[in-house]
Amino acid sequence: MKTYDAIVIGSGPGGYVCAIRLGQLKQKTLCIEKEEVGGVCLNWGCIPSKALINAAHTYEKAHSSMATMGIKLGSVEHDPNAMQDWKEGIVKRLTGGVRGLLKSNGADLMAGTATIVSPNRIEVKKADGSVETIEATKGIVLATGSTTIEIPSFKFDGKQIIGAKEAVSLREVPKRLLVIGGGVIGLELGMVYQAFGAELVVVEAMPTLLTGVDQDCVKVVERRIQKRGGKIYKNAKAMGYEKQADGSVAVKLDVEGKPETVVTDMVLVAVGMRPNSRGLGLENVGVNIDKRGFVPSDEFGRTNVPTIYSIGDVSGPPMLAHKASKEGEVIAEVIAGHKAAKDWACIPGAIFTDPEIATAGLTAEEAQAKGIEVSVGKFPFAALGKAMAMMETDGFVKVVTDKKTKQVLGVHIVGPEASTMISEGALALEMAAFAEDIALTIHPHPTLGEAFMEAAAHAMGAAVHIV
Ligand code: FAD
Repeated sequence: MKTYDAIVIGSGPGGYVCAIRLGQLKQKTLCIEKEEVGGVCLNWGCIPSKALINAAHTYEKAHSSMATMGIKLGSVEHDPNAMQDWKEGIVKRLTGGVRGLLKSNGADLMAGTATIVSPNRIEVKKADGSVETIEATKGIVLATGSTTIEIPSFKFDGKQIIGAKEAVSLREVPKRLLVIGGGVIGLELGMVYQAFGAELVVVEAMPTLLTGVDQDCVKVVERRIQKRGGKIYKNAKAMGYEKQADGSVAVKLDVEGKPETVVTDMVLVAVGMRPNSRGLGLENVGVNIDKRGFVPSDEFGRTNVPTIYSIGDVSGPPMLAHKASKEGEVIAEVIAGHKAAKDWACIPGAIFTDPEIATAGLTAEEAQAKGIEVSVGKFPFAALGKAMAMMETDGFVKVVTDKKTKQVLGVHIVGPEASTMISEGALALEMAAFAEDIALTIHPHPTLGEAFMEAAAHAMGAAVHIV
């Protein structure tokens, strides 16, 4: 029987990072993958969707702002096949890179489906039907990720009723697209196809889109969807659908108790992801699975069975790639016997809508709910030279501080490059910075980062460029 120090199940951004780090720490490591190396993130999540989003943004700019800037392009056309080929090239390069990194760092990669048979042993079922038992002397890491949730009344058919996996691979843009779920994935992908000309309808069961996100930020995105002709139903449930004779789909909605029908060409179901915790044999060894299907772990990544660790989407929210990877690194150190633990002030989040939203730390409402009196500073991109030069002036930077101490509690950005700018907000929170630290840091001119400096100064009541 093969024996390793550590076995990592899953090769997404949690699993592959963990396996590489284990290899670097001279631990004999095996990483097992049942589908594609790189997991959801590299194959049909973060990277493919961001490639399409960038293509959509470029196409949109070519239509909307370039002529004003004096750049005349003639006719601008979208070729979905070329776009998909380009996107698939990126995926291939990145997944090839992951294979290379695993190899060069001494971690073995095995194709197959793993199940746990004892606290130290797994079985791997391979494509040829053979089964191999393998032992881990130090630990087994569950990095099995998550899968798209399917609604029973909207079973995926791969053509007209689809999930995110299919939505990032469309080689034809639907004329009309209805998205069930106004969360991150639904809005990101919905806006891609809206930019390429699809009539977009978003159906959200809650009273707001992007629940839990600063609603001032969300409103900016909502307005953009509507300005492009999109329709948003809130407090609305998609109940079922009927195929029409002309090939279209009539979706039945319950909008605040009233029935309504929307005819569309394609339905994207984006109601969330469910952790991959079933069928792994966890029940056999007594690993706890919570009510929502997550496998919780402590600050050392340990489940209730000490030799079994969980990281990434399967371990609990937020279901984000950078959270999975950081956990992978920390847990590799733990398994190698180093003093390490999960200890971060915040996990920033980026939403790649148009414009982008990015957040770190508490919203003003969350801080107030904790009994903290807040002082909020805000700076609009409309007042910033760089944003004007980019012709992307929608949005703002908002800095939430403790009113008494002016310590930064949260940063919320909607606007151009919000996803890049938020790293400064995350650093401020990790360093326990005060508004003054940001406001007194000289930011280069002209940059989008100046908006962060000005918003911090505004929270202190000392902004120069604000009326
Ligand atoms: P996964 O990436 O899900 O990988 C788990 C792997 O484990 C899979 O490859 C699976 O095949 C394998 N596996 C499962 N069970 C077994 C088994 N029994 N044996 C062997 N292998 C197994 N996050 C961001 O941070 N930023 C984004 O912009 C972003 N965009 C997204 C866009 C979309 C459309 C989607 C769907 C998700 C997006 N996410 C984004 C979320 C991100 O993809 C996940 O948080 C991330 O992939 C989680 O990493 P993971 O390693 O936990 O799991």
